[in-house]
Amino acid sequence: MASPVVIKKEKVDEPRPSPSADAGEGQTEAEIECRMIELMGEFPKGINDKILETDMPNVDKKVKVAILNRLLSQEKVNIFRAAVTKELFWCLKQQPTSKLKGVDSEEKIVMRIIEEAGNKGIWNRDIRTKSSLNQTTLNKILKALEGKKLIKSVSSVSAAKKKVYMLFNLQPDRSVTGGSWYSDNEFESELVDVLNQQCYRILQQKAEGAKQKPLEGPLIVRNASFLSSKEICQIISDLKIVKFNLTVEDIETILDTLVYDGKIEMSSTTDGYSDGQVKTYRTVEKILSSAGIVRIPCGVCPVIKMCGTVGAVQPKNCVYYDQWLD
Ligand code: SF4
Repeated sequence: MASPVVIKKEKVDEPRPSPSADAGEGQTEAEIECRMIELMGEFPKGINDKILETDMPNVDKKVKVAILNRLLSQEKVNIFRAAVTKELFWCLKQQPTSKLKGVDSEEKIVMRIIEEAGNKGIWNRDIRTKSSLNQTTLNKILKALEGKKLIKSVSSVSAAKKKVYMLFNLQPDRSVTGGSWYSDNEFESELVDVLNQQCYRILQQKAEGAKQKPLEGPLIVRNASFLSSKEICQIISDLKIVKFNLTVEDIETILDTLVYDGKIEMSSTTDGYSDGQVKTYRTVEKILSSAGIVRIPCGVCPVIKMCGTVGAVQPKNCVYYDQWLD
């Protein structure tokens, strides 16, 4: 990013909808604001229009501007203009550690370590190693800083019993919360299954539609059967299957699972407007269905060498077969 020129306040004049109103696509302004703050945590150097458009393509630009202006007036974010491109960027306003009032020197050391960890957070043990404080003192300091609402602890999906600490005003990174597919540290497997099936159905319908048109050959039919992840995200959002603000990145994680299952294929292209690549997807038509023998679990069984008529691993009590037959 080009070196920024900081400007004090630059509001964009747009009509502001009521904060309680549905901001479009079933999302409230509060949810969109929350996602914006999360994005600013992911991009500490600032977010611009392009990042917002990619992450929340279904949210009206007026709503985004109204939320950003409100965050500015609440002094939660800073705005600056890039020196070369003149693009506007918004970033989280953080209280400099050195200016904190009522915080003693040991607390400042801990705050600085936590601040450096950003929105990915840092474990208690790592803070102890970096600060060289003993566990009892550190626990007291962490408790005091939490009480002053300067830091917060967040449970990580990667290790539910371990908490990571981060600055109070940061939204945890996706690697901590697990992203949209986790709720209270639980993986939303049913929702993922529904979206997986829905994405596949949308691509099947697109492929069938492409075949119906009197086009000029198989290559054109093939090209007409692709949909970009942004288009699929828009269709799924319109169906209102999910209650949160679905991002293109969320949909790409679902589409990736279909690619790994061999049901669809991915290609990339440019949208003609930006430098970035756009991911597009289409269903894969199998010329021949695979023979039954290659689909049985024994073909990929990790314990096949131990399997027999005696011993702990036997076909008659095989869990892989039970799952496969189900
Ligand atoms: S029967 Fe079950 S345990 Fe034995 S090889 Fe097949 S899949 Fe593996």
